Amino acid sequence: MQVWEASRLIKRLNVWCVRSVATLLSSLLRTCKTLWPLSLAAPIRLDKCRISQLEGQNLSRNYSSRKRVLVTGGAGFVGSHLIDVLLAKGHDVLCVDNYFTGARDNIAHVRGHERFEFIRHDVTFPLFVEVDEIYNLACPASPVHYQHDPVQTTKTSVHGAINMLGLAKRLGARILQASTSEVYGDPSVHPQTEDYWGNVNPIGPRSCYDEGKRCAETLFFDYHRQHALEIKVARIFNTYGPRMHPSDGRVVSNFIVQALKGEPITIYGDGAQTRSFCYVDDLVRGLVALMESPAEVTGPINIGNPGEFTIRELAEKVIAMTGSRSALVQLPLPADDPKQRQPDISKARQHLGWEPSIALDAGLVQTIDYFRAKLEL
Ligand code: NAD
Ligand code: UDP
Repeated sequence: MQVWEASRLIKRLNVWCVRSVATLLSSLLRTCKTLWPLSLAAPIRLDKCRISQLEGQNLSRNYSSRKRVLVTGGAGFVGSHLIDVLLAKGHDVLCVDNYFTGARDNIAHVRGHERFEFIRHDVTFPLFVEVDEIYNLACPASPVHYQHDPVQTTKTSVHGAINMLGLAKRLGARILQASTSEVYGDPSVHPQTEDYWGNVNPIGPRSCYDEGKRCAETLFFDYHRQHALEIKVARIFNTYGPRMHPSDGRVVSNFIVQALKGEPITIYGDGAQTRSFCYVDDLVRGLVALMESPAEVTGPINIGNPGEFTIRELAEKVIAMTGSRSALVQLPLPADDPKQRQPDISKARQHLGWEPSIALDAGLVQTIDYFRAKLEL
């Protein structure tokens, strides 16, 4: 190779090296420029940006109070209404149900909702999920259904409570138990106050439900005392409304379905026994108020409508409101059927500022409309 050729090659190589180094440096500089704000200033800037975005959308308040809420028994009558309210309040809702008495139809309208999830699961088995609050509603509520498999009913109340309390303990989550006026049994105190210990037959056909719910209450208060768990216990009185199962066997759904179909209205016993009927929207408002109440409000707290009616009065009302020609027929009174029931709701008024607002007639109109559409009558 000639000398002049060699020197040209060296020059070219130099130029190439200088260019490469320059390119390398400039790309390094660009990378640094991009990385520097990320590594130092970015978190602050991005958070500010995100927060102001949320503020701009007026979501920041909701964002901070938004919770992941588990509703067991969410495909049931009460649970499905509760889910509607929780979603409307901006929470993430996880519904757990084994469909024993619940129905896909009850939650069909929230399937696909971005903040709704469903898990098919039996609460008598442990559950591992991450949530902030738990509403424990899983349990058949109608005498016909809870007496169908009484052993499973007790297991659902007791093992279900243990599993959900264990979950709440692991997560430090607040937990609400859907207890019942049945813990008072066939009451000798009227109206029923929360400090009344009840009159329950421990070995009768209703005991699987009554004693199961009483044991669940015991477990809730022991977890509270022993593990400082934040608990809420609602004693729910007879509740009715749309999404009750047509063949549920409870008195309101039975009478409406029978009246609409023109079938005999089945009165058990002489119909002189009383119940106090609460419309589902009022109940759900009470449950949410209890969950949101200060930690020291544990309950038990009665949630129900103090308006008291005999079963015969209810039958006559339903016949009049549906314009039915159904006749009243008398069937034997089931064993241990409570003779009277009316909640004293002083505690709910005082601690939750809650009282029902929907009278029986107004609630029946909604419920009759629902069943008319459901049965295509
Ligand atoms: P429901 O029967 O319509 O709903 C109960 C739901 O729990 C159903 O979806 C059912 O499939 C589910 N479930 C039952 N066993 C389960 C299990 N082992 N695992 C998972 N899911 C299970 O009854 P409801 O009227 O909606 O009652 C809801 C809750 O409120 C119950 O705990 C009930 O005891 C209580 N309660 C209701 C009333 C009332 O009048 N509706 C009165 C007192 C108490
Ligand atoms: N009942 C009735 N006819 C029916 C269903 C129920 O007379 O077709 C009575 C039942 O015996 C009870 C009351 O209505 O006295 C309420 O029954 P339900 O099953 O709704 O609830 P309970 O309060 O007994 O759990």
